[in-house]
Amino acid sequence: PTITNHMPTAELQALDAAHHMHPFSTQDGFRKKGARVIRSAEGVWLTDSEGHRILDGMAGLWCVNIGYGRTELADVAARQMRELPYYNTFFQTTHVPAIALSAKLAELAPGDLNHVFFAGSGSEANDTNLRMVRHYWSSLGKPEKSVVISRLNAYHGSTLGGASLGGMIPMHEQGGLPIPDIHHIGQPNWWAEGGDMTPEEFGIARARELEAAIEEIGEDRIAAFIAEPFQGAGGVIIPPDSYWPEIKRILEGRDILLIADEVICGFGRTGNWFGSQTLGIQPDIMTIAKGLSSGYQPIGGSIVSSKVAKVLAEDEFNHGYTYSGHPVAAAVALENLRIMEEERVIDHVRDVAAPYLREKWESLTEHPLVGEAKIVGLMGSIALTPDKASRAAFAAPAGTAGFITRERCFANNLIMRHVYDRMIIAPPLVIRPEEIDILIERAWQSLDESM
Ligand code: PLP
Repeated sequence: PTITNHMPTAELQALDAAHHMHPFSTQDGFRKKGARVIRSAEGVWLTDSEGHRILDGMAGLWCVNIGYGRTELADVAARQMRELPYYNTFFQTTHVPAIALSAKLAELAPGDLNHVFFAGSGSEANDTNLRMVRHYWSSLGKPEKSVVISRLNAYHGSTLGGASLGGMIPMHEQGGLPIPDIHHIGQPNWWAEGGDMTPEEFGIARARELEAAIEEIGEDRIAAFIAEPFQGAGGVIIPPDSYWPEIKRILEGRDILLIADEVICGFGRTGNWFGSQTLGIQPDIMTIAKGLSSGYQPIGGSIVSSKVAKVLAEDEFNHGYTYSGHPVAAAVALENLRIMEEERVIDHVRDVAAPYLREKWESLTEHPLVGEAKIVGLMGSIALTPDKASRAAFAAPAGTAGFITRERCFANNLIMRHVYDRMIIAPPLVIRPEEIDILIERAWQSLDESM
């Protein structure tokens, strides 16, 4: 039979469980329970096959920054598909969407980040970065500078390179990762790992793990340090204020490139175009994806400084993807950025949505289950705990409390994710105050039901 939106939900779920392998999921779960079928969406609201309206507190996967239902993007995609659905940019050819998008990104990105290498996703872009920084040092006659330092519990993607750069141990355990010459230091997660230190002391201590690693491995072996300005998938870990200034101090004057993975933080999430601007850091390379097109088309890339691009220009970089600079994806991304500027979406985040959400989000710490509430711009997390004073973990296996709360949110038509026992949100940037009220009400109710 033809499979359509009009089939009964149970039939769709059975077919889904039989044939569709879901990412980061236990397949048996879908056989037993069935995946929720999402049918359509508008603004911050999803509609499922049973007609429930669900508030999407995660903007899909942190990507639908301008919200759902923007038909302008569909129009641009259709126009571009009619005119030039595909052409590559490998062998002495280019096209207007790739030219225009790279020029626009050079304008938006801080400092001398003026060159763009396109990819199809954030993972691919980080693979590009890994190869690019090694090639950069090799071109400068220092091929031994190949080690990239990253952080435990970082997320940089699911490809072999991306997952190796990432610091997710369960990912490393499947498939023998990381690949060679990736070194992980600790993350600045004070709540879980800060012990008796104050957050400020802990921020300094964790930053100094970078210094210790450089001394141990040797600066002449290190190509780059990669980090998300604010860790997203690791549980929205917002570092103590002391952390990034200390990282900056450590990198200053050293021959080590800084890669800021802006896949989540980029394009307004933290109240500026890029998370690096929120933190006052100037990376050599930025990884972008997600909010670049608000998720309407798969596209990612690396924004590269003139310093790095100049060296790469002298020597062929044997790297690229069929869909690097895909014209339809690039045209859609450009339209997304145009809308963001025209509608002053970042001003809305900074002046309206973020301050409004911050106050309500932080008030969740009045709930008996909530230890800390952290938020920057429109990405926030709460730590669940049985004992706030000692920041204790639950006796049940890590993630059980988070999973239960997530399930309650899901039943209450709110998408909120959990990372072990941290609950996280990253709603579309266009969320309105009255929608924030609903988000908080449903979060509070779900927490109550999880006790
Ligand atoms: N980097 C960061 C910081 C991410 O959050 C993600 C995805 O969540 C990625 C990279 C990977 O991007 P993609 O899933 O588009 O490959």
